[in-house]
Amino acid sequence: MNIGESEALKGIWPEEAHQAAVSLTFDDGGATQLSRAIPEMEKRGLRGTFYLCPRGDDHAERLAPWKEIAARGHEIGNHSLSHTCSNNLKSYPPTRGLENMTIEEIEEDILEAEKRLRELFPETTERSFCYPCYQNHIGQGLTRQSYVPIVAKHFVAGRGSGEYGLPNHPLNCDLHYLVSQPGERMSGCELVGLTERAARKVRWIVFTFHSIDGGRLGINEFEFCDLLDHLAAHKDRLWTAPVVEVAKQLVKARAERQA
Ligand SMILES: [Zn+2]
Repeated sequence: MNIGESEALKGIWPEEAHQAAVSLTFDDGGATQLSRAIPEMEKRGLRGTFYLCPRGDDHAERLAPWKEIAARGHEIGNHSLSHTCSNNLKSYPPTRGLENMTIEEIEEDILEAEKRLRELFPETTERSFCYPCYQNHIGQGLTRQSYVPIVAKHFVAGRGSGEYGLPNHPLNCDLHYLVSQPGERMSGCELVGLTERAARKVRWIVFTFHSIDGGRLGINEFEFCDLLDHLAAHKDRLWTAPVVEVAKQLVKARAERQA
């Protein structure tokens, strides 16, 4: 890190002693997030971001357990209404996929999800977005285009996929396509190591989880808790906060540096 960079990064996080920001994010609202991840996080005073899809006629009933989670300070994020991904992930013939959606349709889908989330969680009007299957495009080949600008129009931040190299640079990263580190099948040592590397480089590391133990894209509970123990033991250095809170901090910090 050169002198100019370390100067610009000084005071980037809320506390002087913070070396990195860490966000624990969870997709699709699986049952083990409620039964296993959240109790373990709360035991250690940690809050996360939970990306939900309010689809279906029963969405209000299905998502009701998340109301108290929101009330306890966790972020409820927007994961779109229909969770549409690319047709490449489907068998033939595919149903609707990103390849045959328009920008207008994707925006409508995201805004309908937002309307339902606001009805369900009226106390939280500011939230981040999470790209289903980490994909940020519609169309294919000559018609392919990014829908990141749509997300940027409506949200403070959008969580994307992993990127070769490093987690998010607080001043350089695209807040609307944040780099995230998939946590499935990882060991506690790997998760802690990645966090400490983020701290050494003054970065924001965003972890993506789905289920705890078994299940789709699962992580073993023991390994997950190893990361949580580390975050709790080093709270003074590692700022763990929901995506929306870190993004807002960076918007503020970037504006101050522009001034
Ligand atoms: Zn998802």
